[in-house]
Amino acid sequence: MVSNIDYTGDGVAKKQAVTPHQSAAQYGSLPQRRPVCQSPPMRSPNYYAAPGFERAGLRRREPEWIRDRVLDPASVFVPVWRSQNLVIEVEGGEPRAAVLTVDAVGPLLGSLNADDVEERLIRGEFVFLGLIDERAHFALDVSASEAPLDMLRSPALAAAGIAEGGMAQIGVRFADLRQLAGRLDRHEGALLALARAMMFWHSRHRFCGLCGTPTRSEEAGHMRRCTDPGCDTMHFPRTDPAVIMLVTDGDRALLGRNKNFPVAGMYSTLAGFVEPGESLEDAVAREVREETAIEVGAVHYHSSQPWPFPANIMLGFYAAATSTAITVDYGELADARWFEREWLLSHVDDDSFRLPRRDSIARRLLEDWLSGQAG
Ligand SMILES: [Zn+2]
Repeated sequence: MVSNIDYTGDGVAKKQAVTPHQSAAQYGSLPQRRPVCQSPPMRSPNYYAAPGFERAGLRRREPEWIRDRVLDPASVFVPVWRSQNLVIEVEGGEPRAAVLTVDAVGPLLGSLNADDVEERLIRGEFVFLGLIDERAHFALDVSASEAPLDMLRSPALAAAGIAEGGMAQIGVRFADLRQLAGRLDRHEGALLALARAMMFWHSRHRFCGLCGTPTRSEEAGHMRRCTDPGCDTMHFPRTDPAVIMLVTDGDRALLGRNKNFPVAGMYSTLAGFVEPGESLEDAVAREVREETAIEVGAVHYHSSQPWPFPANIMLGFYAAATSTAITVDYGELADARWFEREWLLSHVDDDSFRLPRRDSIARRLLEDWLSGQAG
């Protein structure tokens, strides 16, 4: 089932020094986060997770406060266009998340004023994500626009100090977060992932799943309600659980190459969706058995990772093999093999074998096992 999760990527992520970029009042990148905790966590979070991000869930039920924040010059908007995020590419540096203030949002939407904020909230164009340093952050849906970047080159943008020539050197574009492969600062990556996930959910729940009547967004975008009074069903954002596991046999690890991996030679841990009526441990054992015919015994939880491609939570495990003969399910995999720890530690990525992408929990599971920290 790994192919259905779309747990693929280019596996390439070279960390470089961040180049200072141009920023402006109406248009720029997020401020760097300050530490939220004095003591280090027992286990650092996986990419796309954002510990310390204040979701301020109770505020969602305060419509007046939410409306005021939409029009607040201090608020920050994270544009999402058809599941793509706005990023700033700086020549010679890593990309940064591009965010907007309310002065730039109006031209992008055509208009924005106190009279139409409520209607836009009902349509789900704004979703309150939470607070960072007391500043409200919203996901902003600009999918209705055929060419949102043209709107960003509006007088509002010019007034912000980013002219056409400047755009060429800086490079502003809507991009698929998957393709950035963890090159963004982790807090920015987590914020863009959250914005994308919320807008994905809205885009696929415009109608009630029970009666087919249009739904409306409530609670600042965290619930949609059927507009038929006789139905009145509430629909909530969802994320689908998937297990991902490193199967080990002493100093050997079981890795597979999915048929759909786009990068030559990339191997990864096995993974699959949890089915209804199934425990996580049972899902681990079933997926490993289905894909490789390997049986597993003890299963230990490691950590989890939000994986908004499009709407998953990856639950990471180690599983101890109780059998060793592999029978590959070629419906899912192109290959599956045991790899010796020493070989993995000494191998340099090439087209015959490369490790999973750096922003993935698969990579984390493997690296922690290789370094003897887990497994
Ligand atoms: Zn309904």
